[in-house]
Amino acid sequence: MEPVDLIVKADYVLTMNQELAVIESGAIAIKGKKIVAVDTAAQIMQQYSASKIIKGEGKVAFPGLINTHTHAAMVYFRGLADDLPLKVWLEEYIWPAEAKWLSPEFVGDAVKLACLEMLKAGITAYADMYFFGDAVAQSTRKIGMRAVVGSGVVDFPSATGNNADDYLANAERFITKWKGDDLIMPSIADHSAYACSPETLKKSKALADKHNVMLQIHLSETEWEVNEMLSRYGRRPVTHLDALGLLDERLIAAHCVWLDPDEITMLAKAKTNVSHCIESNLKLASGIAPVVKMLKAGVNVSFGTDGAASNNDLSILSEMSTAAKVHKAISGDPTALSAKQAMLMATRHGAEALGLGSLCGSLEQGKAADIVIADLRRPHLIPLYDLYSHIVYAMNAADIDTVLVGGKVILEQRNLTSLDEAEIVAKAVQWSRKIKEVHSHS
Ligand SMILES: [Zn+2]
Repeated sequence: MEPVDLIVKADYVLTMNQELAVIESGAIAIKGKKIVAVDTAAQIMQQYSASKIIKGEGKVAFPGLINTHTHAAMVYFRGLADDLPLKVWLEEYIWPAEAKWLSPEFVGDAVKLACLEMLKAGITAYADMYFFGDAVAQSTRKIGMRAVVGSGVVDFPSATGNNADDYLANAERFITKWKGDDLIMPSIADHSAYACSPETLKKSKALADKHNVMLQIHLSETEWEVNEMLSRYGRRPVTHLDALGLLDERLIAAHCVWLDPDEITMLAKAKTNVSHCIESNLKLASGIAPVVKMLKAGVNVSFGTDGAASNNDLSILSEMSTAAKVHKAISGDPTALSAKQAMLMATRHGAEALGLGSLCGSLEQGKAADIVIADLRRPHLIPLYDLYSHIVYAMNAADIDTVLVGGKVILEQRNLTSLDEAEIVAKAVQWSRKIKEVHSHS
């Protein structure tokens, strides 16, 4: 018997490996941060012994879901301004609120709430674009989640800088500080091609290349953006980034709603990672990204929630469900974006988008033990014929029971083990009272 630290048993283990193996009465042996073996429970219990065993009766274990685009701290602005066009929403509500409130303390507190929400929705890793990267990284680390944390870059002044050079200097300091961390992957987050000049975009890319980190950007989110780029530079947004040399496998491009066929080819060729944020795009009426066409062309498409102010929750389960249904409806083809395909996008493809393809995204020997255990004994999950169908079309965040990140049980039967949940909630209520006093429009 080989001693391991933890054995997770489950009625079903959905591995999301290359063969998409599903193991009935399965188990996962975990040593330290890593998965040592995935097999039937009978096999695992014969080979391994552990002091802690999660029994997993009536449960399914699957790889942690990956949120490839969000602004975690924006959970504190959830519901502050809704039902507005993107440009008005951003320029008249969100940017002024950010100018008024953002500080390391605000961001640090808000990110804890966002992480709590994401963990309870089965998300184990996310990509963040915001300001005060240190605060984002520290809170994420404390709670025990994995994240690609972007240090924000724009051309205009904000709480963290006066111009692009300030933000780039911040980004380099941030990268140097966090590089090599086992949970936090520092990165650079250019807001967009309309809020960053060609010069700024090129400098960001050079800095990302110098440190071998991911670059994140909002890309072709609205028709306005396409027209703006055409009038400023005479080319569409994706073509613009291609000409500046930004498109490659280390770019996470959020949205990509407005694409022409050439741009889809460019994204596929460059292996650029597209984060599909369908609920945010629907809510802001930005449009619907041509995901089926992108997948056909070979683009790596994953799911992002975007910030909670435009969604308004941080659940990849819900993104999968919405996306799978909307793409069927608009293509007139019920076979478009199947449940299995959606699950792949939320796990393996998401991990690849974050540059973590060899670390997580599937339950396999040698990968990090980033595992979600969900309860199948719920009225809306009975009977059970197909696990992919259940997870994508019927499961919701409340069904998530236990979550492991890097072998650590961070959420146990919905209780947070790493930090005091009541304190995170109390802080959020405190901040919201202050925000309400200033921004109340009713
Ligand atoms: Zn966004």
